[in-house]
Amino acid sequence: MKKVTLIKGDGIGPEISEAVLKIIEASGAQIDWDIQTAGADLIETEGSPLPQRVLDSVKKNGVALKSPVTTPIGKGFRSVNVQLRKDLDLYANLRPCYNLPNVKTRYENVDIVVVRENTEDLYAGIERQIDEDSAESIKIITRKASLRIAEFAFDYAVKNNRKEVAVVTKANICKLSDGLFLNCAREIAQKYPQINFREVLVDNCCMQLVQNPNQFDVLLLPNLYGDIVSDLCAGLIGGLGIAQGANIGLDYAVFEPVHGSAPDIAGQDKANPTAMLMSAIEMLNYIGEREAGTKIRKALFATLEAGIKTADLGGDYSCSDFTNAIISRL
Ligand code: ATP
Repeated sequence: MKKVTLIKGDGIGPEISEAVLKIIEASGAQIDWDIQTAGADLIETEGSPLPQRVLDSVKKNGVALKSPVTTPIGKGFRSVNVQLRKDLDLYANLRPCYNLPNVKTRYENVDIVVVRENTEDLYAGIERQIDEDSAESIKIITRKASLRIAEFAFDYAVKNNRKEVAVVTKANICKLSDGLFLNCAREIAQKYPQINFREVLVDNCCMQLVQNPNQFDVLLLPNLYGDIVSDLCAGLIGGLGIAQGANIGLDYAVFEPVHGSAPDIAGQDKANPTAMLMSAIEMLNYIGEREAGTKIRKALFATLEAGIKTADLGGDYSCSDFTNAIISRL
C-alpha cells in the first residue's frame, strides 16, 4: 500500500481534508495516510509552523497532499508554503484551469495550464527596511532555475499534447531579471520546434486573458506573475473553490489547491472541497492509482451536473452534503 503524507493545514484545511479523505476511501484507492499538522498554531508547542517532522515525512514518502496553511501578514515566520517548496526543491508549480460541468462562467472551453517557477523571484524573501519610510525587496532570477522551469513547461506540453507555450514576463521593464527568464525560455524553445512559442508581457497577458482566454494554452511565468495570473485563471473557470495545483520537483511532489485557508468561512461547513479533490485526483494519477482517480472525477462531474454545488458556485449545499453526494455516486 502506498504511503502518502497528508498535511492538514488550518482555516478550511481540516474540513476539506476530511471530505477528500472520505471520498478517496470510498473510491477504493489503497493509501496508507501519514497525517501531519502544520500551521501557526504549532509555533508555541513546536517552535515552528513547519516542524522538521513534516518535511521528513514528505521526504520519506515522496508524495504529499496538502491543504492550505495560513500565511500571517507582517509576522516574523516565513510562509509554510514557500518554505516547503524551497526545502523540497519543488521547482515547478502546475495549475491546470479548465471549465467544469454545470459551473457557469463568462467563457466556455477555457483550457489553460499555468506553469509557475516556484523557488525564486520576489519569493526569495530578501527584504530590508532601509529607514522608517522605505523598504526594499530583491527579485532573484537565475539561469539554472529559469532553464529548468522552461524545460518543464515544454516537456509538459509535449507529453500532454499541447500546442503552444507562452512565456509571460515584464522584460521591457525588468530587463536583466525578466530578460534572463525570457532568454532561457527562448533557448529551450529551440529544442521543441513542434511546440509554438510565444512571448507576452504580463500586463497584456492579463487583458488578453479576460477578453479572450481561449487563445492561451500553456503559460510559463516567473514566481510572482505566476501567483497572480493563476488566480486570474481560477476566476475564469469559477473561482478558487475549484482551482487545483501541484508542486513538483525531481524527488518529491506536493499536490494542493490554489486557494488559501479562507479564514472567513472556516469551521462553517461551507467550503468547496473540489479544488482539493481535483488536486488529490492528480496525486492518485501520480502514484499510479489511475482507476480510483478516474472514478472520483466521474462522480464529481456527475454531482456538479446534477446541480449539487456549494455556495461559492451559487449552490446551497454544505461541504459535507456535497461530499456525501459525490460518495453516493462512486
Ligand atoms: P493566500 O494568500 O493564502 O493564498 P488568499 O488571501 O488568496 O489566501 P483565500 O484563502 O484563498 O485567500 O480565499 C480568498 C477568498 O476565496 C475568500 O473570501 C474565501 O472565502 C474564498 N475561498 C477560497 N477557497 C475557497 C473554497 N475552497 N471554498 C469556498 N470559498 C473559498
